[in-house]
Amino acid sequence: MTRDELRAIPKVELHLHLDCSMSFASVNALDPSVTPERYRAEFLAPQKCVNLVDYFRYLAPALALLQSREALRVATIDLMRQLAEDGVIYAEIRFAPQLHRQTGLTTDDVVETVLAALVEGRKSYPVEARLILCQLRPDDAANGLELVRIAEKYRARGVGGVDLAGDETGYGLGEHIPVFARARDLGLNVTAHAGEAGGAEKVREVVEQLGVRRVGHGVRSIEDDAVIALLLEHDVHLEVCPSCNIQIDVFDRYENHPVGRLVRRGVSVGVNTDARGPTDLTLTQEYGRLQQVFGWDTARFRAANLAAIGRAFADDATKAAIRARLEA
Ligand SMILES: [Zn+2]
Repeated sequence: MTRDELRAIPKVELHLHLDCSMSFASVNALDPSVTPERYRAEFLAPQKCVNLVDYFRYLAPALALLQSREALRVATIDLMRQLAEDGVIYAEIRFAPQLHRQTGLTTDDVVETVLAALVEGRKSYPVEARLILCQLRPDDAANGLELVRIAEKYRARGVGGVDLAGDETGYGLGEHIPVFARARDLGLNVTAHAGEAGGAEKVREVVEQLGVRRVGHGVRSIEDDAVIALLLEHDVHLEVCPSCNIQIDVFDRYENHPVGRLVRRGVSVGVNTDARGPTDLTLTQEYGRLQQVFGWDTARFRAANLAAIGRAFADDATKAAIRARLEA
């Protein structure tokens, strides 16, 4: 398939971060002093970072910008533009609202602003989108319970669920177990980052102790047959983001990424960018790499997108409508 044919594939993207998806256009709109050269130097991470924590350093400039209602609005609408140009028809956009309160916005302000921007962006860019609110590994249970309260409050307006993100090697689950239990009690959807910087045992932890049936990354499950069996037993879907894993050096080269092996083991797998900003990536480029390196074809991409929409944090009618477009 050509680049245009790859772009035209209708796509479902369940794993991407708002604060990691600022294009030059949105950065420059908010701070006209940022040139393309400065954008590349400060907002994009090198092709190879030392590890996940090293990569996090490149998120700081975007976060520093995203501290006002206008900045959140501009970044959200620009992300919808990027998604539409990428052939994405359904997206779940995640972020940690507690990181956007440095100049006085409340968590409610932050979430309401992004939800309103999705509605506004939808008028120009036909992308069906939901939000996922991220608890971060270093956060405590009190922050998490407040996040769950906000997620429930805005559920009907487009908050799809709750995530756990951040440094999985430096922090355990202790504070987060009651948070996720509360979320599940309320019927909220949950997912968690695990099994990227950390090993297969981190995937087992979030499946068994947080009760998630979707895992962000989860690719290092391939290191332990018992964890693969656990994923199959509980029908856990992996939100796979290959290029990000290569960039933080979980795998040395694309050829050695386990996405193909996970599919062959029968694990439910979708394809995502994770970060369009620091990684300098589109989902179309990611599809191109999967086609080139692993021989993925139209049928395999469709299967991945159908797997993803089946596990989306949206109502059944929305999922059915998206599924019909994937199958058309
Ligand atoms: Zn992520």
